Amino acid sequence: MCGREGEEALDTLLTYRTKIQYTEGLGSWYTHDENMMYIDLTHKWHLLTTVVHEAAHARTAHEGLRPDIIKSDRKPYIEGMCKDESNAQVKQILSNMGYQRYAPNLPDVILQREYARGGEQAILDSIYSGRIVRCTDGIPYPQYYGRMWDVHHRG
Ligand SMILES: [Zn+2]
Repeated sequence: MCGREGEEALDTLLTYRTKIQYTEGLGSWYTHDENMMYIDLTHKWHLLTTVVHEAAHARTAHEGLRPDIIKSDRKPYIEGMCKDESNAQVKQILSNMGYQRYAPNLPDVILQREYARGGEQAILDSIYSGRIVRCTDGIPYPQYYGRMWDVHHRG
């Protein structure tokens, strides 16, 4: 993995011993309970940058930088988690842009055009507005995080 984002992902894997399991057609995600990133092999153009994305989640989770679902109020939790998603996606975009310098035919990743136009804020806006849905279940991010919070705060 090349570039600053690739090096950081590698450092995360080595520092936190985050494991990788492959899926096919289920999407990619990171589970902190298992310290495991699930990487969808069908995204063959973006395998390495997907590892960069999920490693970013692993890093913030291990460093305690994600909001605590129990201690946070609902809105700050959703905002904080959308910010975490935005952070991971920006790293994936930057990583992909690095590869595209050597492989101009490599397709863009999600929100790459928005990033070119509006930078990091455009990515956060796209995620927080619910315009972008999760690749694993098709649910917009704020809705998903809201549901997760509700599950943990039921009477
Ligand atoms: Zn993510």
